[in-house]
Amino acid sequence: MYIGRFAPTPSGPLHFGSLCTAVGSYLRARSMHGRWLLRIEDLDQPRCSPQACDSILRTIEAYGLEYDGQVVYQSARRKLYEGALEELRKKGLIYSCKCSRSRLKTLGGLYDGLCRSDGTPDAGQRSSLRFRNPGVITEFQDRLRGKVATPARESSEDFILKRSDGIVAYNLAVVADDWDQGVTEIVRGADLLDVTTRQLNLIASLGYSAPTYLHLPLILSNDLHKLSKQNHAKAVEADQASELTFLALECLGQRPPKELRGADPRELLAYGISHFRSECIPLENKTIAVI
Ligand code: GLU
Repeated sequence: MYIGRFAPTPSGPLHFGSLCTAVGSYLRARSMHGRWLLRIEDLDQPRCSPQACDSILRTIEAYGLEYDGQVVYQSARRKLYEGALEELRKKGLIYSCKCSRSRLKTLGGLYDGLCRSDGTPDAGQRSSLRFRNPGVITEFQDRLRGKVATPARESSEDFILKRSDGIVAYNLAVVADDWDQGVTEIVRGADLLDVTTRQLNLIASLGYSAPTYLHLPLILSNDLHKLSKQNHAKAVEADQASELTFLALECLGQRPPKELRGADPRELLAYGISHFRSECIPLENKTIAVI
């Protein structure tokens, strides 16, 4: 059984870029007669808000994107993540890192493994926990892009599993959740292409079976920035559901017929499901004028 999911972070309302990801993963799952799950990635509480979460849920409903089962909230799943950490600890695949923020800044994004040799499995508070990454996986097969290779220093990075403030890191949570929810294919934005091999190394270390992947093109604003909450992309509104669902289908290369312009979003999605062709999704990111 195909199981897909959409996993937004509620740090702001949905913008057109995240809508395209939702629509893409929805169409793919439904065209495979599969399930489509909704998971709210609200682990980083200081960055998330209940208002943004409500707004995302209302938008998903207004746009006719029907999910299966209950919404899952990462904030309620600490036990699952602690279990995964314990598993890694048993295998000797965790160490604690006391590197200061200023030291990490000098590294330019990728950790150099300084604490790997002397790091204890758990040095208690104020240190973060890192993955002793075997780094054996450096490439994967993307359903749209074919073989995607990542430089070894990226795929083998000893990334953070739990931050020094106690917050479980995205890379651990996403891997544990997708496994726990039985997700068979991950359809998400191409901004996460680079972390995929890191996640696959974690998946292999935990003994989970790996899902397949399909990374959708990003939607860029006129100035070539990815639409994101950080650069204040506009929220998609309920009364734009027809217009923006039509546009999302176009951005995903699905070519809805002109006669469907103005149709109910559910009708547009039904068309999208029955005519869905993943091979028509463009590889290049898409620049959009106003949204
Ligand atoms: N929560 C992530 C985001 O909003 C998506 C994570 C994923 O799909 O793996 O960008």
